[in-house]
Amino acid sequence: METYAVTGATPSEISLSINQNGPYSDWIGGAAQGMTETDIDLDVAYRTSGEGDCTVVLGNVPVSATYTIVLPAWTPSPGTPAWTVAWWNEALRETAVHERTHVEIYRRGLADLAAALATATCSQAAALVDETSFELNRENCEFDMNEYGTRIGLTMESCLSGGSPGSANLDLRPIAALPILIGHAVPRDAVQT
Ligand SMILES: [Zn+2]
Repeated sequence: METYAVTGATPSEISLSINQNGPYSDWIGGAAQGMTETDIDLDVAYRTSGEGDCTVVLGNVPVSATYTIVLPAWTPSPGTPAWTVAWWNEALRETAVHERTHVEIYRRGLADLAAALATATCSQAAALVDETSFELNRENCEFDMNEYGTRIGLTMESCLSGGSPGSANLDLRPIAALPILIGHAVPRDAVQT
């Protein structure tokens, strides 16, 4: 987990500080309150024989991922009213739950991918990677649309198109160590004052 520091003595000051210091999100077009960066590593390769037969070769851990959750950090000054601290704790808790949900979506999808790759042919493996990449992006976008995207006028289309670079054509080349970096963010206005 990473944090960025925010300051302020009241919810509106803290919200402003989040707006000024939060990680930038292309989709939102401004600062996010929290963000999950997912770095997916596939240790999957093709081996082709002289006869043209192709087999899928899986590494010890064929599908792995590193998640970096970015959350705001705030330290109350002495004398801060208890209700402000309570507001902050709730805002931070909701943001953490939101980001944790993205991680769970990835974990489920990648576990399914790993299971399916175990018995896949070369052409199935390529299709599985493409489908998983598309499906993970769709699920994460759907979650963000339901959480706040619809409310602030963002579209599913813009989320999907700004999302997964994993949709590259994988057909005729090895898919070993294909990096997929997908970020999903929650906007700063999800902090209710
Ligand atoms: Zn999100």
